[in-house]
This record gives sequence, structure tokens and C-alpha cells, in this order.
Amino acid sequence: MNTLKELTWKQERIAKINKYLETENRKDFIDDTYITSLINKRSTVDKPRIAELIARSKTIKGLSPEDAAYLINIDDKDVWEGLYEAARYVKNEVYGNRIVLFAPMYLSNECVNDCVYCGFRESNDAMKDKVMSYDEIKEEVKAFTSVGHKRVLTVFGEGPNSDANYIAGSMKTIYAVKNGNDEIRRVNINAAPQFVDEYKMIKQAQIGTYQVFQETYNKERYKQLHGKDHIKSIYKWRLFALHRAQEAGISDVAIGALFGIYDWRFEVLGLMYHAADMDREFGVGTHTISFPRFEPAINTPFYNNNKYKVTDDDMRRIVTVLRLSVPYTGMILTARETPEFRRELIQLGVSQTDAGTNIAIGGYTNGQDQVNKVMEKQQFEIGDKRSLDEYISELVDDGYIPSFCTADYRCGRVGCDFMALAKTGKMKKLCIPNAVLTFEEYLLDYASPAVKVKGEKLLNKYVEFVRGNATPAMHKQVEDYLARIRKGERDLYF
Ligand code: SAM
Ligand code: SF4
Repeated sequence: MNTLKELTWKQERIAKINKYLETENRKDFIDDTYITSLINKRSTVDKPRIAELIARSKTIKGLSPEDAAYLINIDDKDVWEGLYEAARYVKNEVYGNRIVLFAPMYLSNECVNDCVYCGFRESNDAMKDKVMSYDEIKEEVKAFTSVGHKRVLTVFGEGPNSDANYIAGSMKTIYAVKNGNDEIRRVNINAAPQFVDEYKMIKQAQIGTYQVFQETYNKERYKQLHGKDHIKSIYKWRLFALHRAQEAGISDVAIGALFGIYDWRFEVLGLMYHAADMDREFGVGTHTISFPRFEPAINTPFYNNNKYKVTDDDMRRIVTVLRLSVPYTGMILTARETPEFRRELIQLGVSQTDAGTNIAIGGYTNGQDQVNKVMEKQQFEIGDKRSLDEYISELVDDGYIPSFCTADYRCGRVGCDFMALAKTGKMKKLCIPNAVLTFEEYLLDYASPAVKVKGEKLLNKYVEFVRGNATPAMHKQVEDYLARIRKGERDLYF
């Protein structure tokens, strides 16, 4: 239940938003009727057309929503095998064989909204509200960084104590924590939509990427799931949240949909139209796409009553079609999925994932053994409860180089600059060297003995890769930086 303070804050905010929206002239880029017509068209296997689409996607030109809809509706195992192979190819061409690692940190779960799928919703009496104080955040960051993390995705509920001031203050607090070699170098955010002046404050606090998930792009379904009198009930406020962030100068913005609350095919096309509209207005698409799958949460019966469950096979198709359609956009896989399934999805085009994840408020301070034991403070159940080191061990076995790189943002390679590099294949050439440097830091400072041994072997292979694929000057610089890191220097990057 909302407190009086929360209720007043919410009502004032809704009034302010409605007033603001009277001046919002942007055109709604989600045409529900057209998208529905696309996803309802039956697809018959047309081999020349499929071959042409695969060939085109391999030139990294992307696909139109109409082409994506055609592929989505194909029901032929062999065709999908070909598409999976193409997705693996595209991922490797743009990002190389490296996986960027981060973990989420939940800082507040107070929420004035009532999204039926979320454990934090205001009507959920089984959830204990908590907003971490800055002192508690400092302790959380120490625990979080002590295992090797350098990138964090902070997550917030929406309410008077989790507003833009609190978000910016949390970010400053996080960046200020230094403990030996432990530190956060990039703070990303998943928080409710804000006004432009609020985004400016958040940008000043050095935001990395800002994420807002539309949940469902279908307006009718959106209305059913988000109630009437909440901030989140206002579809348009959310749809243009990232446009406002761009207006405020936040260049790395990230979209997502909560898969499993409506027809997944609609959401794939919704994401594509969203990325295209950002590209049209700002000359840069979205930095990443997330495709979280709806998970059970405490006291959330909607999970069992919902008819739009997404199967593993659907998930494979979601990742594949997105990888082929928007090749320059990073794709984020989360620990909502099980270890076995994560291993499989990674191959299909994922470029970033969380690891060593704990989604309880204060969860890292309380220790990894508390994962999923404090359901009354966490949003949903996670599927992969392995530690960061255990996860890295598997990546190394599979030949992927883990990366803690945070260079792009600090070198100013964000937004358009990032896309320009990605589009000319130069990103891969910078990503692998930066992965090598940050992975060496991890091996020296945090790895278990077994991971250290096999990690160094893998690292040497990637240094050889740099020798074979980059300029001699770049290779020499990598070797020099590695030598300096081994002598104790940290945070060297390209
Ligand atoms: N309150 C902010 C908002 O709604 O934008 C940000 C934080 S919210 C905790 C982050 C995301 O969690 C939501 O956008 C939603 O996609 C996801 N989420 C909510 N309930 C979930 C569930 N039961 N399973 C998986 N993901 C869920
Ligand atoms: Fe609140 Fe976000 Fe959860 Fe909705 S999804 S109840 S807005 S925390």
C-alpha cells in the first residue's frame, strides 16, 4: 500500500506528466494494427527468399520488420538451423568472441506503480519496501567489487525516495568507493522514465547506459497490465523516455521488452520499430536490447494465470531474429535464465550478460549464499545462481574471452561514435584488446587458482589473435600494457 507521502508524490507527478505530454509532438511509432497484421501472416518456406535474407543479414545490413515477421513465422527446423548459424556469424563479425560481464545491483524496491507481473508492485503486501541509504550502498559496493566486478547495472523502483536526486546521489556514492584495486568504473541504470532536467542531473553524475523496458509494446495489453491511475499506466510517457534521455545528452540508451506477458512476435517488431525511431531522430540506434523473460515473483499469481508464456524455442528465435535484424545493437542476456540455456543462447548473438548476480536489496553485502533466500526483498527468482568465478570458468572452457571493459564510455565512444566504430568493424579490434587487459586484471586480482591457470592460456590465444588481426603498433601496445598490469598498474585501456 502507498503511504500518504507516496500517494501525494504520485498524484503530483502524474499531473506534471500529463501537462508535459500536451507538448509532446513526437509521432507514435508503434502501429498496433499493422504489427498485428504482420505477425498474423502465415509464412511458407520460400527457399530463395530465405537464402537472400540470410545472405543480406550476413552483410550486416539488418532486416526490415516485414522480413523479420516473415522469418518469425516460419516453422521449419532446417530453416531455423540456417538462421541460428547466420546469427552466430553476425555476432562474431560485429563483436568478436568476447562477452562483457556486469551484474545488477538493486538499490530500491519502493514503488508507486502496480505492474501485475512485478514483485515490487505497490499492492504486494508480501514485499518489504527498502531504499538503501548511501552508507549501505558503500558497503554493498565493497562486497560487489570484491569479487572482480567493474560494471554495475543499478535498479530502482519508482517513488519519492527513489527519484532523480536519489539516483544521481547513488551513482556518485558508487563511483567514490575505492578499495585497493576494487572499484566500479561504469554505472548503468534501469530506472523509471524521467523529465529532461532530471536526466541532465543523472547525466552529470556520469551515467553509462540508461535502460527502460517498454514491457509490452501492445497498447491494449499494456493497459490491462498497468492499471489506470499509476505513472506507469501512461504508455506514451514510457515510449518516449529514451528520446527524452537523448535530448538531455544521454547517448547510450537501451531498450527491452518483458517477454512472456504478450505475444513475443509483437514485442520483437516493437523493439525493431523503437530502435529505428531512435536512429531516425538521433542518428544512432539503441546501445543494447534486453529480452528478459517473465519469472515468478513472491505473491504474484499473475504468473500462473498468464497465457503468453515464452518457451525455450521461442527464446532462441527471439535472439536470432533480433541479432539478424539489428546487428549493431548489443544484446543482453540475464541470469533469469538457467545455466544450461544461457550457455546455448550466448552463441546466438549475445554480447553482454550478468554473472554472480544477486537481486535482493543489500544482497551482495549479505553474501552469495543468500541468493533467493530473501524473496520478500527481491523482484523475482533468478535461474543462474553461480558465482562470477564459476561463470567465468565456463566462458573460458567455451573459448569466450570475458571482458570488464568500460573504455567506450570514458573515451567518449558512446552513442554515434560507438555505432560508427561498430559499423566499420573497428569496435571488434578495440574490444578484444580491452577484453584482454581487463581479463588479465581479473586473473591477477580475483580468479580462483583453476580459473587463473586456464584463463592465462586463453588470454595468450587472444594476444595472438591481436598479433594476427591488428596493426603491429596495437599488438605492441597490448604487450606493453599487459606488462604494466602485471607490475601492478590498473585501468589501462584503448
Ligand atoms: N521500476 C522501473 C521500471 O519499471 O522501469 C525499473 C526497475 S524494474 C525493477 C526493471 C525491470 O524488471 C522491468 O522493466 C521489467 O521488465 C522487469 N521485471 C519486472 N517483473 C519481472 C518478473 N516477474 N520477471 C522478470 N522480470 C521482471
Ligand atoms: Fe515498479 Fe518497475 Fe516493478 Fe512496475 S516493474 S512495479 S514500475 S519496480
